[in-house]
Amino acid sequence: MRVTFRKMFKNVCTFLSCISSGKSGALTLKKCLHSKPNFTKNNYNIIRGNYSHVEEEHLYYFRKLLGETRIVTDLSDLEKYNVDWHKSLRGGSTIVLKPKTTEEVSKILSFCNSNRLAVCPQGGHTGVVGGGTPVFDEVVISTELMNEIISLDEKSGVLTCQAGCILQNVDEYLAEKNLVFPLDLGAKGSCHIGGNVSTNAGGLRVLKYGNLHGNVLGLEVVQANGVILDLLSTLKKDNTGYHLKNLFIGAEGTLGVLTKVAVQCRQRPKSVHVAFLGLQNFHQVLKTFYKCKQDMDEILTAFEVIDTPTMTLVNEKLGMQSPIGDYPFYVLIETSGSNEEHDQEKLDAFLKSCLLKNFILNGTVTGEVGKLKAIWALREKIPQGFAKDGYVFMYDMSLPLHNYYKLVDDMREHMGKLSHRVFGFGHLGDGNLHLNISVQKYTPEIAKHIEPFIFERTVHYKGSVSAEHGMGFLKSKYLGLMKSQESINVMRNIKKMMDPNGILNPYKTLG
Ligand code: FAD
Ligand code: ZN
Repeated sequence: MRVTFRKMFKNVCTFLSCISSGKSGALTLKKCLHSKPNFTKNNYNIIRGNYSHVEEEHLYYFRKLLGETRIVTDLSDLEKYNVDWHKSLRGGSTIVLKPKTTEEVSKILSFCNSNRLAVCPQGGHTGVVGGGTPVFDEVVISTELMNEIISLDEKSGVLTCQAGCILQNVDEYLAEKNLVFPLDLGAKGSCHIGGNVSTNAGGLRVLKYGNLHGNVLGLEVVQANGVILDLLSTLKKDNTGYHLKNLFIGAEGTLGVLTKVAVQCRQRPKSVHVAFLGLQNFHQVLKTFYKCKQDMDEILTAFEVIDTPTMTLVNEKLGMQSPIGDYPFYVLIETSGSNEEHDQEKLDAFLKSCLLKNFILNGTVTGEVGKLKAIWALREKIPQGFAKDGYVFMYDMSLPLHNYYKLVDDMREHMGKLSHRVFGFGHLGDGNLHLNISVQKYTPEIAKHIEPFIFERTVHYKGSVSAEHGMGFLKSKYLGLMKSQESINVMRNIKKMMDPNGILNPYKTLG
């Protein structure tokens, strides 16, 4: 059956060799800091809150607590903590603290709170909305030394770790026990579990595992005043009162600093397959998705879409090619399960049926690890291509599927010659669109042409202005587009109660 199916595709055998060498997947993100962005406070005209500046007496306290080696004050060493991954934001922090324990975080926060020093919690600093980048001279609390796995119950799959563990390291540890972390994203080589939880990160396999609200069982959090909140339950079910831990999932460091996380991990799938397909138009993409859900929902892990401009970018800037030639749209489908034969049979039948119905024009399918990674690399490396395409405005929307690509078409029309290219790709299976716009150079005029238009359009299409990246610094002023005034009031009251001096990550989320 599989052979028959394969014969129906053109280029099947040759295409995989076109994709670069099989090295792929996890990216350890290197921050290239040759060109420095302007200070965020100047670019965005932000007024500094009424906080203290870090003085010698504060330094003395921090040195005594952490020692010289766990404090960064050297200007050049501070750069990577002050400049975001896309090099579009720049803070002016003069100090980075690297605690190792919850108790140290507690002492730092208690001291900062008493001295009215603003803080910016930072994980792997891969966030794309500026949540982890200081704006003024906030004290950066980096979790990079809080990287211990505390326990793993191999039977239940419950993992407890410190917040600074790197996602990829945790997943590699779990792989040895035949388990998998229920989250995967392109920045896994650098992002921290605490950062993931604080942004409620989505990524590539939400379709199968759901979002983090369902997978995080417990948290340990240090509050603004230094008091440690032990919410580190490892129970799957616990309906005793308000679900406090959920408040911190996606709070972007504005309500507390996460120090430990307990996560429900899953069995590592025994059989994984990836299909990479070429399609004529977006209508066919949707038909293919609906059929995919109907035919193999129980083994569907990912359904990603990539449009032509995005594939062209990957080709031009990264030298990677579509393995099946050129098509208006591409879809990457991953299935995973426990029975190789069963999964293959289902996928083959589905693909055959899509071909017969003309939903898809061409494609290839593989279950070999190297080839599978090579195909995923096409999708996961897209953000690296943007880094080489002038200045890129990046967006992350949730949309009802019937409106998903309308927004991209609208933006193309709206931008006209002002943009170099408008790209549409993303986690279609979750209704999550990444819409990026590249221009030769950032100008405030172009920025004004794009925003708020793009967000208003998103709301018009009944979508959300942030599907998985959060509000951070860059989107916080658009909160009012998404939430009613009553909801914002409740959010502000929660913030006031938990952080009365407003020291935790100011200028973020609530603005
Ligand atoms: P940071 O960037 O350091 O911080 C993010 C936010 O969390 C900040 O507000 C920060 O203050 C807060 N924070 C960090 N640690 C803590 C803590 N311990 N306690 C309290 N607050 C904390 N995101 C997705 O959702 N899906 C994707 O598919 C995806 N793909 C990406 C691909 C690339 C190449 C890149 C560069 C980014 C991608 N992202 C994606 C965005 C980013 O990786 C995620 O938002 C990630 O979860 C951020 O984790 P981090 O450790 O880097 O956090
Ligand atoms: Zn994404």
